Amino acid sequence: MSLSILIIGTGIAGPTLALLLQRASPTHTITLIERAPTLRASGLQLDFKAQGTPIMRKMGLLEAMRAHRVDETGARVVGARGETLAEYGVKNSAKTEGAQSGLTNEIEIMRGDMVRVLYEAGVAERQRLESEGVKGGGLKYVFGASVKEVVQRGQQGVDVTFGDGREERFDLVVGADGQNSRTRKMAFGAEVSAEAFKELGSQVAYFNVPRGNGDGTIARLFFAAKSRAVMVRNGGRPMTQIYMFSQHNMEKIRESYGKSVAEQKAVWTETFKGAGWETDRFLEGMQTADDFYSHQLAQVKLLALYKGRIALVGDAGYCPSVMTGKGTTAAFIGAYVLAGELARQTHDVDAALKSYDEVMKEPVKLAQIIGSNMTLPSSSLAVWFIRNGLWAASTLKIDKLFMNMMPQKKDALEAWPLPEYPELNLVE
Ligand SMILES: Cc1cc2nc3c(=O)[nH]c(=O)nc-3n(C[C@H](O)[C@H](O)[C@H](O)COP(=O)(O)OP(=O)(O)OC[C@H]3O[C@@H](n4cnc5c(N)ncnc54)[C@H](O)[C@@H]3O)c2cc1C
Repeated sequence: MSLSILIIGTGIAGPTLALLLQRASPTHTITLIERAPTLRASGLQLDFKAQGTPIMRKMGLLEAMRAHRVDETGARVVGARGETLAEYGVKNSAKTEGAQSGLTNEIEIMRGDMVRVLYEAGVAERQRLESEGVKGGGLKYVFGASVKEVVQRGQQGVDVTFGDGREERFDLVVGADGQNSRTRKMAFGAEVSAEAFKELGSQVAYFNVPRGNGDGTIARLFFAAKSRAVMVRNGGRPMTQIYMFSQHNMEKIRESYGKSVAEQKAVWTETFKGAGWETDRFLEGMQTADDFYSHQLAQVKLLALYKGRIALVGDAGYCPSVMTGKGTTAAFIGAYVLAGELARQTHDVDAALKSYDEVMKEPVKLAQIIGSNMTLPSSSLAVWFIRNGLWAASTLKIDKLFMNMMPQKKDALEAWPLPEYPELNLVE
């Protein structure tokens, strides 16, 4: 059966779903809309692990992803003079047992490259289908667009009113619009959506600055006083990626989210001024960074991933947060399972959505596991203690604090068996 499907959001989950849906049924009519005026191919390093690798292989995109691989050889905790306090090696995601915990996973790629690979693969797939004479169906990307209103019409689908006043009925609407999803709010109501959004008590800012002399292929992490931390990753690129984490100045940072980027930068500058190590260099670079992006660390926990004919995929439905390092993998899994269930139960969209929700319960639960508690050290004394303690602890491989920022030592998600969907017509 051919479906008309609206996908809201062209980050990671949306374009992945669009490509999988096309593979399963070339006669689906798929519309993707993005609020931004162009493809939002920015952001820092993402990794995919566990099921992310087989899904990319099945989609025939593993080599394209590998071609953009960031050259990162490990991670290091540094002190105020840049001295090494602890060091971690590259983790091979193919190994499930006994893998060393660390920041660097097998496939690390810049978010912008990943977004582009997924987008281009979807467009190329459509061109291939058309060149083979496939009639009907289609794939359309619309930028600078948003949804104003949705009205559920039972098995008839969903009536959508777009921001420009245009109206259209779709068999299915999928929200892939990230952790602050408006689709979630429209489908479940503001109250349920707000209740599902679980703040983790930290703020994070991401941006790139020009490469400095010491920025190499080893990622570096610095803990400053007053519950602040900075992570620096270069990966052999001309620009260096900066992640600032803060549990300090929380109210001001939270308030800044509704304001301009310049105002957000001013609050982050105030928060990190004089934090030590090379933070002043990062703050200086931040002033002219055109890719500054900041948000609250949060998880999204809903009782169900769909309501009527509106489903959520990726961060919109079950954001595990950057602290788990599993957002991208979970987005791939959700897109794969949703497309798989729709392909399997093509004549019963409602049954497919129910199965999608049921299958996703376990991987979502596993992806959302966060190591130990997320408290960044608050006093200078605590920071001093941890820094000095870390040196010894790292040799014993037991430093708990660093584990807060790292993927889980024992990755439960990796053991979750990915369902097979031959109906998706993938490579293997
Ligand atoms: C600009 C940007 C930079 C990021 N940088 C990092 C990073 O450095 N490190 C990291 O770990 N994670 C980052 N993330 C988040 C990361 O991409 C996701 O956690 C993960 O990959 C899951 O992807 P997703 O597709 O579910 O959500 P996202 O990647 O967040 O994509 C959501 C998409 O929906 C669009 N959108 C939002 N609201 C609407 C709306 N109302 N109507 C239409 N479109 C809408 C957004 O513009 C975006 O393109 C970033 C996200 C964005 C948007």
